[in-house]
Amino acid sequence: MNDLRREIPGIHHITAIAGDPRENVEFYTGVLGLRMVKMTVNFDDPSAYHLYFGDELGRPGTALTFFSWPGARRGRRGAGQAVACSFSVPDDSLGYWVERLGSRGIRIEGRGLRFEEEYISFSDHDGLALELVAHNGAKEKPGWDKGSVPAEMAIRGFHSVTLSARNHEPTANFLIGTMGFRASGDSGNLFRFQTGAGDTASNIYIRREPDNLPGLVAVGTIHHVAWRTPNDEEQAAWRGALAQKGANVTQIVDRLYFRSIYFREPGGVLFEIATDTPGFTVDEAPELLGTSLKLPPWMEQNRPVIEHGLPPIELKKAYR
Ligand code: ZN
Repeated sequence: MNDLRREIPGIHHITAIAGDPRENVEFYTGVLGLRMVKMTVNFDDPSAYHLYFGDELGRPGTALTFFSWPGARRGRRGAGQAVACSFSVPDDSLGYWVERLGSRGIRIEGRGLRFEEEYISFSDHDGLALELVAHNGAKEKPGWDKGSVPAEMAIRGFHSVTLSARNHEPTANFLIGTMGFRASGDSGNLFRFQTGAGDTASNIYIRREPDNLPGLVAVGTIHHVAWRTPNDEEQAAWRGALAQKGANVTQIVDRLYFRSIYFREPGGVLFEIATDTPGFTVDEAPELLGTSLKLPPWMEQNRPVIEHGLPPIELKKAYR
């Protein structure tokens, strides 16, 4: 069975917690220029929105998704958590982004060079740590040409995700020994690992922070990181392999747009392995993605109650 299991191509999606869903939509569509590719609810708690922002189709490797918890307290970035989400942008676009963010009152918190790539760091309105990395492979992918950011400057999906760990070794050993990642350099307290072709959305960093307090998952923090697998057969093989290595891995869960298994890496971060198929066009035409509340078939009978409990979101025509 494990013969079917191939290398993980990279990040599938990253899920974080937002406060007000309307501010969340405004920031990711209006400021970062992503497309809202799905408006649905948390399948485990339909009183909360689950909003997906990505490229024009929300392809694997591009979707940052949010559970909306309006009025909930803020979380705390800390050890045992994914603490930063990084996007890939064209290598000549950082000047544009610094000006764009600055003109909207968003403070650039850091700017520097990491593994020979220039990046800027900032936070969204809920305090979620974000980065844009000038990436020389970014232009190989087209930018979305209908968003609020010109296509040539647009975000091209994820670059990487950063975990914080008091001790990086258990997580490093798990990434390499169980998940098939490659160690690909370290710099001070930062350790880089890659999977798949090693291009966009295939990097993970571990920041060794021995004195860091444990993270607290709430508004403004990352809830989990999902990794790609092409299909159900390979996912089943991954499930078997993880269980064999002692990981406490869930059953396969139907998320309608993909199927998922969940487990924690040894440092405590919740990981998911999600299938590339069927994707976000399974219940909406490509041109209509994100424009109305979609529910899985098993929740449709409760639609009136679910809709009544959610704050209405109006997606500006300019951001579709
Ligand atoms: Zn997920």
